[in-house]
Amino acid sequence: MKIDDLKKSNRVEDRRGQGSTGGGFGRSTGGGGLGTNILLQLLLSSGRGKWLILGLLLLTLVGGGSGLGNLFGFDSGGYSNTYQEAAESSQTDVTDDEAVFLSKVFQSTEDFWTEEFARNSRTYNPPTLVLYSGRTKTACGLGDAATGPFYCPGDKKVYIDLSFYRDLTTKYNASGDFAMAYVIAHEVGHHVQTELGTMTEFNRTRQQLSEKKANALTVRLELQADYYAGAWAKYVDGQGLLEAGDIDEAMAAAHAVGDDTLQEKAYGRVVPDSFTHGTSEQRRKWFDRGYQYGDLSHGDTFSGDI
Ligand SMILES: [Zn+2]
Repeated sequence: MKIDDLKKSNRVEDRRGQGSTGGGFGRSTGGGGLGTNILLQLLLSSGRGKWLILGLLLLTLVGGGSGLGNLFGFDSGGYSNTYQEAAESSQTDVTDDEAVFLSKVFQSTEDFWTEEFARNSRTYNPPTLVLYSGRTKTACGLGDAATGPFYCPGDKKVYIDLSFYRDLTTKYNASGDFAMAYVIAHEVGHHVQTELGTMTEFNRTRQQLSEKKANALTVRLELQADYYAGAWAKYVDGQGLLEAGDIDEAMAAAHAVGDDTLQEKAYGRVVPDSFTHGTSEQRRKWFDRGYQYGDLSHGDTFSGDI
């Protein structure tokens, strides 16, 4: 992908080398989240529940208790004061090649979605890109490099550990800069879902479903993010920025990032063992469809065959 003429995003937080500051955040995102949900349900079913919850909330805010924070994490509505701290990290002007590339791609997605939302009489509120190493605080719990890139609806940030960039080449055999561009565009796709209310609707619906049906619904959510990534690819193609082999690189990456732990981070909750992603063919199909239409309106993965 040709990036020389693209401008960098000013919505990048460079937290590399900072490590985790720990504090009031749950140690393990998923486990804490599920534990909290069960706890909450148990509490709600007892008469004294609300007082217990109040007490626990106080404990969380005052004492920095872990786990409960996840309660707010996946609810894109309000999150606790503790998270606000993390949201106020400073913006950084990155200069190294990999970070500059990501920053430019990120800005390009913002330009595209701002235009596409406007075409649909909507306003696009762009996300923030966080570059980190090791571990970092998120509104969905502690982000860990081992989980790969993810989007957290609670703070509307895309989290990337740059070691994943190299992993794409070495571990997943999906080399090439556009593979990484696709990963960014896919995560931004989850932000688009959040902006449109799809993510909230998804979380609400999912809670009422059996594990199997919930998994099937999650696949549809993922395929839509692939569609949105494809729509952005059409946009940059229209600008003459794609090079031979770029789309194949994206598809190799689509295959590579189908990791359950990514979803756990993305939705701030535990994903059952039997979780499945769309097949490579399905992912390719929806990316291609996005690349064909390049708009919001042909990306309904929630009805009909996928
Ligand atoms: Zn995803």
